[in-house]
Amino acid sequence: MEDNRKIRLLSKETIDKIAAGEVVERPASVVKELVENSIDSGAKNITVEWKDGGISYIRVTDDGCGIEKSELQNAFLRHSTSKLVTVEDLSSISTLGFRGEALSSIAAVSKTEVFSKTRDIILGAHYIVEGSEEITCEDSACPDGTSVFVRQLFYNTPARRKFLKSPMTEGNYINEIVSRIALSHPEISFSLKAGGTDRFFTSGNGSLLDAIYRIEGRSVAADLIEISHRENEVGCFGFLGREPLERANRAKELFFVNKRSISSKLLSKAAEDACQGYLMLHRYPYIILFIDIDEALVDVNVHPRKAEVRFSEEERVYNAVYSAVREAIRSIEDISPIRLSGIDEASPDKVKELPLQPEREERPHSEVMPDEQEVLPEKIPVNIPEKTPEVFEEKRFTKYKERLETMEKPLSFLESEKNGQISFVSVEAKKSHRIIGQIFKTYWIVEYDNDVYLLDQHAAHEKVLYERTIKLLEKREVFSQNLNPPIVISLSPAEEDILLKYQEAFERTGFLIEPFGGAEVRLCAVPSNMFEVDPKELFMSTLSGLSETEGKALDETVLIRVATMSCKAAIKGNTIISETEARALIDELLLLDNPYHCPHGRPVMIKLSKEELDKRFNRIVNI
Ligand code: ADP
Ligand code: MG
Repeated sequence: MEDNRKIRLLSKETIDKIAAGEVVERPASVVKELVENSIDSGAKNITVEWKDGGISYIRVTDDGCGIEKSELQNAFLRHSTSKLVTVEDLSSISTLGFRGEALSSIAAVSKTEVFSKTRDIILGAHYIVEGSEEITCEDSACPDGTSVFVRQLFYNTPARRKFLKSPMTEGNYINEIVSRIALSHPEISFSLKAGGTDRFFTSGNGSLLDAIYRIEGRSVAADLIEISHRENEVGCFGFLGREPLERANRAKELFFVNKRSISSKLLSKAAEDACQGYLMLHRYPYIILFIDIDEALVDVNVHPRKAEVRFSEEERVYNAVYSAVREAIRSIEDISPIRLSGIDEASPDKVKELPLQPEREERPHSEVMPDEQEVLPEKIPVNIPEKTPEVFEEKRFTKYKERLETMEKPLSFLESEKNGQISFVSVEAKKSHRIIGQIFKTYWIVEYDNDVYLLDQHAAHEKVLYERTIKLLEKREVFSQNLNPPIVISLSPAEEDILLKYQEAFERTGFLIEPFGGAEVRLCAVPSNMFEVDPKELFMSTLSGLSETEGKALDETVLIRVATMSCKAAIKGNTIISETEARALIDELLLLDNPYHCPHGRPVMIKLSKEELDKRFNRIVNI
């Protein structure tokens, strides 16, 4: 292994194979490359600091293998890497870096300074390069590992600097990237200092949940469902946010393929499809998902900043992710509890906030969170005073170790969550359900165990009808019901296009549609058992929902649309139904995979615990 760390020039063949591209787009890309180098160096502790959105100052320090003085100059040559030897290595890359162009690209557009020391050599090295020009390369006393300073990014390429956003925004990009990388390596302790303040500090104890807790805060960590699934040699592991964490955009869909943070339309689609019916329409999941797949089946060399990958077997990956997320959703009893006490709405309450991690507020309207602590400078200073770097702070990591020891164990609060009782929504629990009655002609009250459940009869019925229809359609037990006389419908050109694309799927679902000249068609049959939904409405609504959907099987899309229409027949709120009817409804609900949400994502039931009532009546006192 030691020998493999030697830095070599790549062969021309390999250089050509690696498509040249822009590596350094903004400060966050510098940070990403430096941190990835630190990870590849085997570091256990990595510190990232930035000022002015990283434009005037970035520092990444690690305690990894270090670089020998004789190798430092090589490291800064274009296409020099210790991670690839032959072109064959490109097809099975396990390190984060491999293109050998980060250090040279960074040095070309900034003033870069490196202190580095390997463990077996007493003296380390000090190297300064400004705009690709070497200024200093000398012996220097410094701790084991590497510390890279990048100052005045784009100082010699003013055009590039003009494209940067405000320091605040650039700083947020950095925070986002460091957060992602820290999440992808819970076994490494990361410390992020943003604009002079401690942003977060992860323990490096290997637990993903622990890392989420420290980076995202307690309220996020307490609201997660574990994902753990393997199929067809694709492993999926991670966490899905419960409904309160759902987002208005994809900012918190975090995917890691073989520990590499990437964005992927395929993975987003799989996760979003799986969340259908669980999340409200037009909302996106909060998901942190690790995909573990044979390296030979992933091409990581499709993007200069390595932010995307290509899968050779997309369907296999889609299916694995879809099932993994689906399975996670099914595994939980997802009934929102009602809090009456108000004062301490987040349970359990016994965990104090970590001093390092102030709870952050959700800001649903902006993807990038402004950094409160940072003062926005009017202009980016071009000449910042040179300070001697503090490389002699021998104990640079030990102080974090001490801090870590005084930290609380964050996970204890999660352990008390599960207490093994039989779920309300299970056939076993049925005999202990005590139906109390209907209120407001809309909700049903059921007592079970130590909780009172409130069910929305409309949402419950919608869900039952939806699932019933889906099952029938899937089993192809839906038959056509002829329309006599047929209904003539005129379509817009866009609708005609969609119908053409989905024609067969419509037919397999039980529709019969014939051309009728011009822009008109004749609707001759519709699926039967549609609970008296108006045939024209059934057809038009199914059709109108199809325009944007792509990728998923056509049949399934039509099927879901039709099933959603079946909800129209559900009993409304404000309707008196008998207890026998309610009983039958609840019984059928219990058999569903996900009875907690109606097809539009609204909750079907909520619960109120006896404890909550006891608290409210002061029968028990809060600790
Ligand atoms: P790549 O990471 O693609 O190999 P880079 O330009 O990022 O290319 O780095 C060039 C080489 O410098 C790496 O292959 C590695 O040998 C060495 N290097 C860079 N950063 C570090 C570090 N923090 N610790 C140890 N070695 C490093
Ligand atoms: Mg690299």
